[in-house]
Amino acid sequence: MEQFEVIKKEKIDEIDSLGTLYKHKKTGARVLVFENEDDNKVFSVGFRTPVTDSTGVPHIIEHTVLCGSEKYPIKDPFMELAKGSLNTFLNAMTYPDKTIYPVASTNAQDFKNLMSVYMDAVFNPNIYKEENIFKQEGWHYELENPEDELKINGIVYSEMKGVYSSADGVLDRITLTSLFPDNGYFNESGGDPVNIPDLTYENYLDFHRRYYHPSNCYIYLYGDMDVEERLEWIDKEYLSKYDYLEIDSSIPLQKAFAKENDFEYEYSIGDEENENENYIYSKNFVVGESNDIKLNIAIHAIEYALMEMPGARLKEALIKAGIGKDISSAYEGDLLQPVYSIVAKYAKKEDKEKFLKVIDDTLKEVVEEGLEKDVLKAYLFKREFEDKEQDYGSYPKGLMFDLNLMNTWLYDDTNPFAVLKTDAIYEDLKKELETDYFENIIKKYLIDNTHTSLVTMVPKKGLTAEKEKALKEKLAKKKASMSDEEINKIIEDTKALKAYQKEPSTKEQLETIPILEIQDINPEPRKSVAEITKEDGITFLHSDINTNGIGYLNFVCSSGEIPKKYLNYIALFRTFFGAMDTANYSYKDLNAEIDKNLGEFFFMASSNTNEKTEEMLFSGEIHAKMFYDKLEKPFEYAKEIIHTTKFDDYDRMKVLLEEAKAATYQTILTSGHVVAANRAQSYYSKTEFVGDEAMGIGFYDFVSDMLENYDEKKEEFAANLKGALEYLFVKGKVIVNYGGSKESFEKIKELSKDFVEDLFDKAENDDPWEYEPEQKNEAFITPGQVQYVARAGKYDGEYDGSFFALTNIMRTEYLWNNIRVLGGAYGCMNRVSKFGDVIFTSYRDPNLKSTSDTYLNAADYIENFDVDERTLRKFIIGAISGVDRPLTTGETVARELALYITGNDYEARKKNRHALLNTSLEDIRKLGKYYREAMDKGNICVIGSKSAIEENKDMFKTIRNI
Ligand SMILES: [Zn+2]
Repeated sequence: MEQFEVIKKEKIDEIDSLGTLYKHKKTGARVLVFENEDDNKVFSVGFRTPVTDSTGVPHIIEHTVLCGSEKYPIKDPFMELAKGSLNTFLNAMTYPDKTIYPVASTNAQDFKNLMSVYMDAVFNPNIYKEENIFKQEGWHYELENPEDELKINGIVYSEMKGVYSSADGVLDRITLTSLFPDNGYFNESGGDPVNIPDLTYENYLDFHRRYYHPSNCYIYLYGDMDVEERLEWIDKEYLSKYDYLEIDSSIPLQKAFAKENDFEYEYSIGDEENENENYIYSKNFVVGESNDIKLNIAIHAIEYALMEMPGARLKEALIKAGIGKDISSAYEGDLLQPVYSIVAKYAKKEDKEKFLKVIDDTLKEVVEEGLEKDVLKAYLFKREFEDKEQDYGSYPKGLMFDLNLMNTWLYDDTNPFAVLKTDAIYEDLKKELETDYFENIIKKYLIDNTHTSLVTMVPKKGLTAEKEKALKEKLAKKKASMSDEEINKIIEDTKALKAYQKEPSTKEQLETIPILEIQDINPEPRKSVAEITKEDGITFLHSDINTNGIGYLNFVCSSGEIPKKYLNYIALFRTFFGAMDTANYSYKDLNAEIDKNLGEFFFMASSNTNEKTEEMLFSGEIHAKMFYDKLEKPFEYAKEIIHTTKFDDYDRMKVLLEEAKAATYQTILTSGHVVAANRAQSYYSKTEFVGDEAMGIGFYDFVSDMLENYDEKKEEFAANLKGALEYLFVKGKVIVNYGGSKESFEKIKELSKDFVEDLFDKAENDDPWEYEPEQKNEAFITPGQVQYVARAGKYDGEYDGSFFALTNIMRTEYLWNNIRVLGGAYGCMNRVSKFGDVIFTSYRDPNLKSTSDTYLNAADYIENFDVDERTLRKFIIGAISGVDRPLTTGETVARELALYITGNDYEARKKNRHALLNTSLEDIRKLGKYYREAMDKGNICVIGSKSAIEENKDMFKTIRNI
């Protein structure tokens, strides 16, 4: 360890870690280590990468260093790791001023492998040896015959064209351009498609040479590991091979403006859209510096009060003034100088002055009258709760700490810890609630501040076509000016690139990427942790695990069947209950009260199917998270909501229904792969029929009809909503799932028994129904330009763990090659359910029939599948990494409920895991017949564009607009 000097060492209670900041003596490399017990280890290597133009050079480097390196000379190490490592995170990101490469794993050997591939990628990439890597990922001219049109192509080039074709993507960029004319933030580090072709191979290599050096790097290690061994490895294999290099990569501070910058930018809209009603206004403020952590949190609290909470003041004022149809706010914190923005979309040309005036008047009014302290308190509580809980879903928490602290470490070498040490800051801010601290911040940064801009996005029809034409002309001119020799060179280069792309990595090259042995994998599945007891007719599941002082509660009242008339109301539980006035609260007050006391609280209704009996269970549920001193609160609020919600505020219910309709429509457009797959299954599966009626197209039809005929139907709607609530929240089969200490559990038991006494008595099912399968084979036309193509069917036979290995092969090999690489779709999925459903679905797919054919041909591919032992093992390990993804505390508790309700037991999991780990080629091939049987059933559902659907209309029984 004598190669590293300790700069700072501190115990950081907030993240339960010992933090040490080192400096590598020879090169000055910065290394930060957090030692703790967390199994989910994180490594990241990053560089400060400021830009002086918009050619996207850091972004192209990010892509290309992952295309092979000295020790790992294969073409796509990233994809190989995705297929067959146990990673819990694997990615790379380009920011306006830095590029980082993080990986995570819970397996010690796997973690070492991932670190090795990533370190070699950034320091010894193959980009110097193979120019085709730059051409493929960055940009290149394309020309196959001398008479063809000259074209530009490239992965980053296409990716950024996509970003620049959305108004949101452009707005984010222009906001920074308008505020930082003198430092690197003026430019687009991702690359502006107009400027990307200005980047030469030499300038690109120079950028790597200059910034990808240990003297400019930030290394981060987090979790349970042998730190000394890891640091020595980093030194020996990489850092020690370099000398110190003086690198100026600092980001200069942008001087404040004397007055607001008024900035206009044109963007493209569709031909049917109205030019006068599609203006976007964004008022942007530079708010201090990123190392002022107290100020950052205070700004977020102000944002919550003014723009985010139900009934937020500035948002309401802008809506009331009729400015635009979509009001939002944003905070960009990944910069030396953070930016806060208030945005109005779908506004009119003449709204500009009014937009500025309403903001200014409202802010002054707020400063005059003072902010509501209860609302600020609710925000601080919410945020403190999130910091304590550290639940970031599938993102390892060590990674989140890294991303967070980079926002100060990048600009101040000595202090990466401050951003994590929040306990004292929250105490401080709570004291400030008694003063006019928050009002003064509004005054200083949002009223008197002159380092601001107003960005006006001016809508223009046909702009995209105009730009495409200009590019075409430019390229035609370019080609006309070329000699025959130059043209032949481009044709040769195009051929060479294609040949490079077609040539697969060799077996020897592939074998440089390490793969674990099956023996390295734990043969046992995850155990159940809950203790199950019964008291007073209630089933209690208690997980006595360390929850950091937080109680996790799922309260479930289950009924067998549900009357048909209530089916469409299932998804409304979450959005309606708690969002309407009750006897003692207006809905606004109720929300502030809940946010002030609980980490999470919501109602839900759901249906679950038992894995063994295939019986369906409908239930009303309450979900809550709270500190131990607030255990009674969820029961209090639930009682208030269940027994005193006012069902006669028809205007409020209409607003909520409109929100539900808009949200479902968005889901159909953006998550059409899920909706279409679900719909295709609903033709033969009762479970999925219910899912579609509750959340899919069936639900969308219901809510559309309800709104169209709201005046005649509103009373029936209110009666059914109330009826569904009273039908589900009944005494009888109650399950209480709880995670937390023994002591707190005793209290939960008493509170639950009390609560159950007030529930409704079980009512008669006065609208029984039978599920009737019907193969509808529908196509739904949307205004979008892409398809979501789904096929699903059920086979008759046993479920088996080797399906997991097969679906990994399908996802990362068969579908990847046919639907993504050859077809150009953004994504494609395959899943096999425990009930024997085989489901295929594609995402943002330009095709329809060829995708469907790929699904139908899967069985042939599977029956002829042939790879060596090592490759098959890779797919098994990759599949296991999905099964073994580490769970957060909240997920661990929730899993117990799911296992209990679906009847999933340890023995079944063990059997499946055993089958997966021992999957042979023969096993895989045998599964082909199940795929064939399922696909032969012929169920298909597509959501997509008019032209693609009409071209293939024979494939469908019905076609309609959505
Ligand atoms: Zn990219």
